[in-house]
Amino acid sequence: MNYKNIYEVPLSSLRGISTAREKLFAKIDVFSVGDLLNFYPRAYEDRGNVKDVLDTADGETVSLVLEVVSPLTSARIKANRTGRPMTIQKFVAADDTGSVKMTFFNSDFLKSTFTKGRKFRFYGTLERTPRGISMSSPSYEPYSESVPLPPFVPIYPLTAGLTQKIISSCVRQSLEQYRDIITETLDEDLLRRNGFIGLYDALCSIHFPKSAEELENARRRLAFEELYDFHLKTMLMGSRERNGRAVRIKYPDMKAFAAALPFTLTTAQKMAIQDILIDITLAHDPQSEKEIRQEYAPPARRLVQGDVGSGKTIVACAAIYAVAKSGYQSALMAPTGILARQHYESIGKLLGLFGIKTVLLTGGMKAAEKRETLALISSGEADVVIGTHALIEDGVEFRNLALAITDEQHRFGVAQRKTLENKSENDLKPHVVVMSATPIPRTLAMIMYCDLDISIIDQMPKGRQPIETYAVGDDMRGRVYKFIAGLVEQGRQAYIVCPLAEQTDTLLTASYEMKSAKEYCDSLAKTPLSGVRTEYIHGKMKQTQKDEIMARFADGEIDVLVSTTVIEVGVNVPNAVVMLIENAERFGLSQLHQLRGRVGRGSEKSYCILMSPLLKKKNTNAAYAKRMDIICKNTSGFVIAEKDLELRGPGEFFGRRQSGIFSFKIASAADMELVYLAKAEAEETIRNENLRT
Ligand code: ADP
Ligand code: MG
Repeated sequence: MNYKNIYEVPLSSLRGISTAREKLFAKIDVFSVGDLLNFYPRAYEDRGNVKDVLDTADGETVSLVLEVVSPLTSARIKANRTGRPMTIQKFVAADDTGSVKMTFFNSDFLKSTFTKGRKFRFYGTLERTPRGISMSSPSYEPYSESVPLPPFVPIYPLTAGLTQKIISSCVRQSLEQYRDIITETLDEDLLRRNGFIGLYDALCSIHFPKSAEELENARRRLAFEELYDFHLKTMLMGSRERNGRAVRIKYPDMKAFAAALPFTLTTAQKMAIQDILIDITLAHDPQSEKEIRQEYAPPARRLVQGDVGSGKTIVACAAIYAVAKSGYQSALMAPTGILARQHYESIGKLLGLFGIKTVLLTGGMKAAEKRETLALISSGEADVVIGTHALIEDGVEFRNLALAITDEQHRFGVAQRKTLENKSENDLKPHVVVMSATPIPRTLAMIMYCDLDISIIDQMPKGRQPIETYAVGDDMRGRVYKFIAGLVEQGRQAYIVCPLAEQTDTLLTASYEMKSAKEYCDSLAKTPLSGVRTEYIHGKMKQTQKDEIMARFADGEIDVLVSTTVIEVGVNVPNAVVMLIENAERFGLSQLHQLRGRVGRGSEKSYCILMSPLLKKKNTNAAYAKRMDIICKNTSGFVIAEKDLELRGPGEFFGRRQSGIFSFKIASAADMELVYLAKAEAEETIRNENLRT
């Protein structure tokens, strides 16, 4: 077959790829030769640093160049546990400074490989005892002075059934056999300008680097391309969306709005509200409003970022107020039923004061109730529609939808956000506001969300007390429980978070006990918390069940709620003042920060306790210890996000959190400079394209 593109070449065109193997590759999302070449090693073994036997230590993993000095002997040994007979192969190999006893198992075929006088490069872990030096089942490659072996050997992420050898031999074959159709993907000028190597060389070096420098050059080039593609995509997406028209809202009477609030807005809230109002009214103040005669505005695309508890809801509410006052409809989509209900209650009550009608639409509604609500929405009687994913279902018809808000936007896929945006019934687009409680550093946000304008609420409402945060070993458990019991006695509530739902979820096998919500909850009966009303909740429960438990907790019918991270989303229970996080070493920085944000929402002093069995070891250099220290010492989500980024890098930083769009294979934190470069180049590319068309 004559292929033109490596992504068209099926894996089966390579030697040694059976249908069974093809299936194994499919498990790691490798379907074509192109996919395979983009399947990068996760690490490299440094076999280039060859040592003399004399210089090695017990337990060391080393590379040795040795000559086989004894014939290979094969012997049958006791059957192993499976009952299958086993054979053991032994021989001795040596360099000028010492000799090593080699053992392999069930490898009779090695007789013809390890013959006296041949040299190999062995890589493995040594055992040094008074009886001598030995190595068991090392990796080996035939060695000759004239043809140097590559110093680095790639290590691929594996799936059962595929070995490193299979993958690397397929990669090598692909690079040789399909060299002609591995065509350059970046513009030549761009490569030259930035000193990047070509694609073919980069692929060769990322899989089989000949030096550390070569590897770095390949990594830079491939990381750049990933970021560059990402920027191009988002920029194109952004410019397409910004075309189009939205209704222009009249500047509302904000004094009346502010007067209806039980508190004064923070400066940061006022600024965010002002940002949105300017977007949708095109006016800086009510006076200049009079001079604007235009009926339409470009659709707003704004991200409002603010720490948990910074008061984003009221910002959304102000925008909804403005839109309703102009006679248009707004929709607010929240990730869970309980959160939607909470918004419905608080927003509905406040806006009700102005005669604005709010309805709630969730998946769990009864059919008749739902029909009624849908009618209110499509007739336009409902000014505000608050709900869950139910909002973007087919049967929902909006009337004069002018504003679409997504709360906790990281919980939704881009596609879901877009579906809501496309719900307007005519050619007009709604203004879009997305709210996020996962702060990311401003610079990075500007780059990554380049299709959105950004407002940041970096200030907490007055009177909030900082949450006292401690990291403790689990030897403190008794004292912590007594402390919580005391607070419950005073009428307060607490959360306890465990990383797993049920003990059977042993995916994360750890060498120590991992707490699970259900069993944990049961075990509390034997602790100082035995008298309190406890309940557990986890992500595998049905949504309605979760909502019901959360509602009972919010109503004060449960004192201590044991949960997995399902409570992460912004439910507001001001009476909850303790957050105990078990196995805190398992959680990432921003997750810990999010969890902590569940408490400290009322006037009472709140506490966050990070508990970990590992803390007894006092290993302050371990990554988990650093994370916990950062949480104890910092309260601002933005500062924590900066540190998170430093520790982990944007690839992982985004990958985990954003469904799909930000999954970088190779770009990382060390690449901040590349992020900027890629953005600049992408802008340049788009400018040039526009000039051409
Ligand atoms: P989040 O940003 O996490 O969504 P919310 O909007 O839920 O935060 O607000 C958290 C709590 O703070 C709510 O009870 C809200 O009424 C209150 N709140 C919001 N703004 C202020 C303010 N300016 N002053 C005092 N309390 C406020
Ligand atoms: Mg919120």
